[in-house]
Formats: sequence, C-alpha cells, structure tokens
Amino acid sequence: MDLYAEVIVNSEAIELDRTFTYKVKEEHNEIIQVGHRVKVPFGKGNRPVEAFVIVLKCEGVEKIKGIKNISRILDEEPILSRDDLKVIDFLRERYLCKYIDAIRTIIPVGLMSGLKNKKKQVICFAKELEGKLLEKENYKNLISYIKVHDGEFSKSEITKKGDFSIYILNKLIESGFLQVKEEVVYRYNNRVYEEDSRNRLNEEQLNVFERIINSNKKGFLLKGVTGSGKTEVYMNLVSETLKQGKSAIMLVPEIALTPQMIERFKGRFGREVALFHSKLTPGERFDEWFRIKRGEASLVVGARSAIFLPLNNLGLIIIDEEHENTYKSENNPKYSTKEVAKYLSEIKGCKYVLGSATPSVESFYEALEEKIELVEIKNRVSNKPLPSMEVVDMREELKSKNLSILSRKLVLEIEETLKRGEQIILFLNRRGFSTFVSCRSCGYVFKCPECDVSMTYHKNGYLVCHMCGRAQREVKVCPKCSSKYVKFFGAGTERVQDEVKKTFPKARVLRMDVDTTRTKDSHERIYNSFKNGEADILIGTQMVSKGLDFKNVTLVGILAADISLNIPDYRSGERTYQIITQVAGRAGRGDKKGKVIVQTYTPENASLNYAINNSYDELFKEEIRVRKIMKYPPFSTILLINGQSKFEDKLIKFMNRLKIELNKILEDENDLELLGPTPCIITKIKENFRWQIIIKGDISLNLRKKVKDTLYELTKSVYNDIRVSMDFNPNNMA
Ligand code: ADP
Ligand code: ZN
Ligand code: ZN
Repeated sequence: MDLYAEVIVNSEAIELDRTFTYKVKEEHNEIIQVGHRVKVPFGKGNRPVEAFVIVLKCEGVEKIKGIKNISRILDEEPILSRDDLKVIDFLRERYLCKYIDAIRTIIPVGLMSGLKNKKKQVICFAKELEGKLLEKENYKNLISYIKVHDGEFSKSEITKKGDFSIYILNKLIESGFLQVKEEVVYRYNNRVYEEDSRNRLNEEQLNVFERIINSNKKGFLLKGVTGSGKTEVYMNLVSETLKQGKSAIMLVPEIALTPQMIERFKGRFGREVALFHSKLTPGERFDEWFRIKRGEASLVVGARSAIFLPLNNLGLIIIDEEHENTYKSENNPKYSTKEVAKYLSEIKGCKYVLGSATPSVESFYEALEEKIELVEIKNRVSNKPLPSMEVVDMREELKSKNLSILSRKLVLEIEETLKRGEQIILFLNRRGFSTFVSCRSCGYVFKCPECDVSMTYHKNGYLVCHMCGRAQREVKVCPKCSSKYVKFFGAGTERVQDEVKKTFPKARVLRMDVDTTRTKDSHERIYNSFKNGEADILIGTQMVSKGLDFKNVTLVGILAADISLNIPDYRSGERTYQIITQVAGRAGRGDKKGKVIVQTYTPENASLNYAINNSYDELFKEEIRVRKIMKYPPFSTILLINGQSKFEDKLIKFMNRLKIELNKILEDENDLELLGPTPCIITKIKENFRWQIIIKGDISLNLRKKVKDTLYELTKSVYNDIRVSMDFNPNNMA
C-alpha cells in the first residue's frame, strides 16, 4: 500500500505556512513515524529542505500529479511526540503563530543548524573472568576497576588513570569480558553541589502540601507571603512526584534563576536536575534537551520555555512567582505559560501549581471561580514578622525645597542602618518608557477618561492614550492646583547612584541593572559581593526585587512608586501592589526586623495603600470591580495587532483597510470592540513606524482563525513593506 506524509517545511515564509504532501519511499515505510524530521525536495528547483512529518496516511491523495518522494529521514527517533503535535496545534490556534514557529519553540535550537550529540566510546563490564585468567592479578585488577567505573571511561582514559596496560585491556575486550559501548557525552556542568539541608515542613506548609497531593483538582494557586517557605513546599512536591516515578518541571522567572535557587535544587536533587535558561549555549541546550528526552533527567528547573521540554510521564508543573510578566512570551508564538500549563495538564493528566505572594488578578479570579484550587500560607516561617512600611509624601519634600531623589526621612534611615552595620536595598522601578506626565506639587496625573490608563507624553507636545488614540495638547499648568511643576517623569539608577555617593561618601555602593549585568557572571558577582558584606547599599531595578534572600538587609527604599502606578496599562495598580510587596519582602529576612520606605507623589493612591497594609483582598476587590466595568481581562481578551513599516503613509493606509476588513468579521459578534488604528507608544523603532489596532472582548478560537486568515490575505500584496504581528493579552501596549 502507498504511504503519504504531510509535512511542514522549515521556512519563515507566510505562504509556506501549511502542510505539503509527499510520498514515502517503500524502503522508509517501516521506519517513518509521525514527528520525524526529514529532507524533502522543494519547489521548482527541488531544493533540499528540512521538514517535519505531522500526518501519515494511505488514502486521499491519488489525484496529486507529480508527487515527490521524501528523500531522507534525518534522525533515528522522531523529534516530535504525539503530545508535541497537539501542543503545536494548540499554539497555532490560540496565538495564531505559524507551524514552524511552534515547532521551533519545542525542539532544541541548534538541531536545525546541524548540532549533534557528542559521543565517546566507553568500556563496560560484560562478564566475570573464567579459567586461567582468574589467576592473573593484572586481569583481575582491571576487571574490578571497570566494575566500579562501569561505562565511565574511554580506553585511553583507563590506561592513564589506572595505569593499566592497553594490551590487557584489548585482550579482555576481544575475549568478551569487557565491552565497548558508544555513549553520549553531555556539554554539561558536572559541578557537585553541597547537599541542601532539608527543613521539616511546618504545619501550614504541610497542610498545603497534602491538599495538593490529595486533591483531585488539576490546577492550584499557592498564595503564600514572602518568606513563608513556598520553595520548601515546591521541593517536597517534586520529591513526591519523582517518588511516584513521574517527572516534574519547576519554572521560575528568568531573573529569579539565581545561583541561590540553582544551589538549592542541585543540592537537593543532584544530577537528576536539568537546567534550562537563556544563558546556556546552544550546545548546552541541545544536550539538556536530549538528556531529558532519553529520560536521564526527570526534573527541570528553568525559565518559561522549559515547559516544552520532552519529559517522560510528566506529573507536575510548578510556576513560581506566577504573577511575573516574563511568563508571557513576547516572541512568536506569543504564548502564556500558564495557559500552556493548563493545556498540558489536560492532555497529560499532570498537576500544575501557580505560586505567588501576590497572585495575578486573573489567577486569583480563577481560584475564586473554583477553576483552580486555592491553598494558602499566611505566615512567614518561624512567624517572623513582615517588615514595617512607611510612606513618604514627596510633595512635602518639594515644599521644603528638597529636590533630591532621596527624601529626608530615607536619608535618616539610611544613616541609622549604616551605623548599625546593616545593609540597604534601594529600588528604582524603571521601565523602558516612563513618560507619563504628573504634577509634582499635588500629584495629579493625566489619564484618559475613556480607558482609565495614564496618557503618554510625546516629543511633539501631545499627550496620547494608547488604548484608544485620544490625544490632547501638553499642558504646562496643573489643572487641579495650578502649579507649574508639571513634568514628565523619569530618573535612572546611575543618577541615584551619584546622589547616594554624594550623600553618603563613606558607604560602599553596588548597582545592579541591565547595564551592570551584561557579562555572563556579573549578576553572580554582584550578588555574592553584596551577600558577603562587601557593600552596604545595593541600588537596582527589577533585578533586586525578587528571589534574593540576604539576612542582613533591614532597610529597603522604594524611590519612585509612581512609576509603576502610572505605566500606561490597565494592570498598573496590580503591578504596583506586586512590586512593592516583592521588594519589601527583601527586608528583614534574618533575625532583625525590616523596614521599608516608600516614596511617592500620590500617597493617597489606593493600590499603594493596599500594598502598605498588606491587604491583597482589598486590592483584588477594587481591581476586579474596575476590570468588570472596563471589560478588561479576566472579563475579556485583548488582541493587539501591531503593524510596522518604513513607509508611514502605506502603513496608515494598510491599518485602515485592516480595520474595515476586521469590522466585517466582527459584525456578527456581540460585545467586541475594535480600537484604533493609533500610533504605538514607541512610535518608531529602527526606522520602522509602528501602528496598532486593539480588539477587546471574548475572542473565540473561531474568530481568531478568521482574523488570521484576513491578515494573511491582506498582507499578500504588501508583504515586503509591512510586517504585522498579533499578541493576545500582551505584557505591555508599547
Ligand atoms: P518563599 O519562597 O516563600 O519566599 P523560602 O522557601 O525561600 O520562602 O523560605 C524562606 C526561608 O525559610 C529560607 O531560608 C528557607 O530555608 C527557610 N525555611 C523554609 N521552610 C522552613 C521550615 N519548615 N523550617 C525552617 N526553615 C524553613
Ligand atoms: Zn497639581
Ligand atoms: Zn483612551
């Protein structure tokens, strides 16, 4: 019977984003499987290209004339499993990515650029000596040595290490007492870690652990205050999963993948842990991928893309700091790791645990709706107190002619802390574009009345809302208090460092931000240096806000809480709450109580006060109320369609045509809103103008497909000039 394969070719081109049918040569009939990587002749010139088999079939293709053969099968085993193929469909349907984008997310980078496993020939024990050989000491010694180091060393390594003769070694191989095997060598850090000391779970931890193990729910939200010992619970859950013969994935935000975290997991689980994050070389990623595929590692600690690793018999996925926006991918496929985890739990039957001290509004809402189970740890380990928090009103500083970034109160506290020989973290929440406009005198911030987000300052003198496009002229006088201190906001960590040095010339100061952590080990160096007490003050951005466990830090200063309050995004309140709580959680982790100073121009702001009072429930109530009114997630999905081009005229014309076409599709849908087109917050990147359209509402899979088809159709004619991308519930609207 004739066998045919539907394949996806390895190409970026939109017009090739579909399956192509090939014939399977008879000699391949018995070998080929779905998921195999193959070579096929492609196009008029029969150029050889790589492709992936996603369907095998015997019928339904009689009519295709001139059908070509698959020329080669590239790997022994299929690269993609049946589950992988389901995940690929999931990614395509949900995030509207191309087949090849989904495939590339799942397979190791490097596979298609020709990386291969490194192999070496190792010596293994085969059978016991017999007869005359039993009397020969040399032979006996060598056999005993190999028994201890079975499969570890090559011939030359053995003769060097053990001072054995190559003659005897060869002799034993020839007569079948020893055996040569081919073994894959991993480009892998074999460093041995100190065993991590185990803590006996306290009552709250144990309760959470048992509920997760015994519940028949699949998804869980673990809400536990900072320092409540969530990591300890995770490790116990992982242990239990491994004990049952299953495997586990432990995800952490990229920047929380600190040496400390790795130490703890490697120390507890040893070589069974695979690491997977962006700092690995392609070779290392490749090796870890295959180590996992072969079942030689059953626990992965990694950043978001580790969720796609080919673990056998997956039993558990943990997503730590689940509220972090790094779990949303910003490259194609622009997936949400939490949605992928939920999908995996459906097709593989595994459990997934979302953990956070400050759960995202969406996750907490799901828990209240009982789609996932809520489990809580309300106290810090050993009942250590949470740090005390104090707000400083920066408007008062202005009135008293203090124009410094540091308030008088903070300066005083820093002095005291330095005197006691304790350490300080100063946090500046800086996002790429912090260009909201506010009054320094009364704290008034310009917001869009329609969308409830801060308006963004543009150099052309306009304030623009990036949800709906409303624009107004820049105002020089505060509409509320008539002060002239209306300015756009922004300060860098470098300036903070200068001021701190000027104010405290004797203090030893370290800075941790993107600029100081460019090289491979710089992050670890700054971390260790501060941990070892080589500095008194650590100044940093997001990087210092989480995962760090320094016992001697007793003071945390949050320099400009306003920045996160006024990001032009419907999540600004939530983000503020999260960031303040997380940073504050760095203080007082040792035996001494911690203190947090929060500087702001709007001390009356609600989210800020919820954070100060540690009242998550209040924050949630307020957020969910506003989101319901404004129809923001979780009550809707937001689709951001971004267009880029060197030619602004063409782009605007295109985006307007797109709007007309999209409106046709949306016609028969209730409750869907189309906003725009408007210029993006970042209006131009590398000579490319940027415009966007937003669709807001309950966007079904069916509708997603229609949007994609429309877009594919429209872009055909402008393919070379305009690039379009789509993002569901994007991290930011920039
Ligand atoms: P979280 O992840 O919730 O912020 P961690 O898991 O980092 O908290 O725990 C905070 C500290 O408490 C760590 O130093 C950890 O070793 C310690 N710890 C955790 N659980 C226990 C326990 N049951 N008994 C004693 N110490 C614990
Ligand atoms: Zn004012
Ligand atoms: Zn608006």
